[in-house]
Amino acid sequence: MPGDRVVIVGAGFGGLAAARALKDQDVDVLVVDRNNFHTFQPLLYQVATAGLDPDDIAYNVRAILRRQANAGFRMATVLGVDWRSQRLLVDRGDPIDFDVLVIAAGATTDSFGVPGVDEHAFALKTLADSALLRSHLLSQFERADTDARAIDAGALTFAIVGGGPTGVELSGALSELVRHVLARDFPRLDVDRTRIVLIEATDHLLGAFSPQSQRHARKTLVSRGVEVLLETTVEQVTPDAVQLPGGRTLPACTVVWAAGVRAAPLAGALGLEQTRGGRVVVDADLRVPGRPEVFVIGDMAGAPAPGGGLQPQLAPVAIQQARHVAAQIDAVRRGSPTAPFEYHDPGTMATIGRNAAVAELGRFRFRGFLAWVMWLVLHLVQLIGFRNRASVLLDWAWNYVTYDRSARIIEMELLERRFPSALR
Ligand SMILES: Cc1cc2nc3c(=O)[nH]c(=O)nc-3n(C[C@H](O)[C@H](O)[C@H](O)COP(=O)(O)OP(=O)(O)OC[C@H]3O[C@@H](n4cnc5c(N)ncnc54)[C@H](O)[C@@H]3O)c2cc1C
Repeated sequence: MPGDRVVIVGAGFGGLAAARALKDQDVDVLVVDRNNFHTFQPLLYQVATAGLDPDDIAYNVRAILRRQANAGFRMATVLGVDWRSQRLLVDRGDPIDFDVLVIAAGATTDSFGVPGVDEHAFALKTLADSALLRSHLLSQFERADTDARAIDAGALTFAIVGGGPTGVELSGALSELVRHVLARDFPRLDVDRTRIVLIEATDHLLGAFSPQSQRHARKTLVSRGVEVLLETTVEQVTPDAVQLPGGRTLPACTVVWAAGVRAAPLAGALGLEQTRGGRVVVDADLRVPGRPEVFVIGDMAGAPAPGGGLQPQLAPVAIQQARHVAAQIDAVRRGSPTAPFEYHDPGTMATIGRNAAVAELGRFRFRGFLAWVMWLVLHLVQLIGFRNRASVLLDWAWNYVTYDRSARIIEMELLERRFPSALR
């Protein structure tokens, strides 16, 4: 493997970490992304619930890379790969030649084939998703304020499908937005009729956590007015309802699908072997079998985990895999053998709302205020850029002290483009 030109697809957690880890190697690095910014996905739910501005959790990729002499950026959507000539096929400009390819194009929402999800449910994967959801949910309060009959039709019912961290965090934040902020914004509206319904197919929330943390999350959410429906599968989503088993219908004009993840569509266009969830099969060293010059990392990689199964789709996995791949590229160029990837689990956290979170770090478990502070500090530290950190810290402090949300913006044009019928 000559290893002169390393092309990285995706400027997410994995792609950026890979570029940075190649800083001191004698290679040319090119990062390619369809957006010119990196998105800090763990805080998307705060944009959706008006706690943060979209700008706070996005960062320009060129600004990140400009201090790295051997790295450049190209904004383009990768459509596929011509393996014979070792070129990326892109939607604009010339194809991109590579000697080594690192694919880190992330994941998208998996509807599991449930009818109506793609058409009517909101996703929470991109900055655009979160801005759209924010506009939509705020617009439902305006709608109900104009015509109270809309409440019976589900305007103020918010169904969140999927009891993982995203579903739990979104439900908790939404409940706070409604109780502390919208109740004051809409004095003539019976805001108490708002329903936040968290729907989960298994018998517990937060599948990756211990039973104690799972129970704590559920109890806290219920105490904050969230209805938790366990062992309930959604059968269909329509523009204004969720169909549940046994012929039950939940009128809801907002359905957020936080239930499934599958590899980004690019994975299917590569002509490589895929695992369940569309992830690309890789060997233990993260190389594609039979293609020693191609690595896949992060949410798109079907990397084997010890004891069977695949590595979890989490930011620390993507970042550690990126660093591992940089070391393997160096090893191969020196003629040394590659090593298998080993994941060092730094622990997991999920916030449930104000002063409430669960955190599990090895055998240590934290709940409540302490876990919440740990969650805040960790996310602040992980954000890219001083301005973003300062801005998020200021917003959080403001929200905490005033019980307010500064970013209560409805972008009508955005909304009408995507869901013309949702406003009526
Ligand atoms: C709402 C939400 C909350 C989350 N919360 C947490 C959390 O609390 N903790 C945690 O550890 N993990 C969390 N995750 C998961 C974490 O964000 C992912 O595991 C991580 O982002 C994976 O990194 P990645 O580099 O593989 O992909 P990403 O960070 O998703 O980056 C993929 C990049 O590829 C680009 N791309 C995709 N397709 C193309 C293409 N065809 N051409 C060009 N560019 C392309 C995208 O624009 C994107 O920039 C959360 C995810 C979501 C959606």
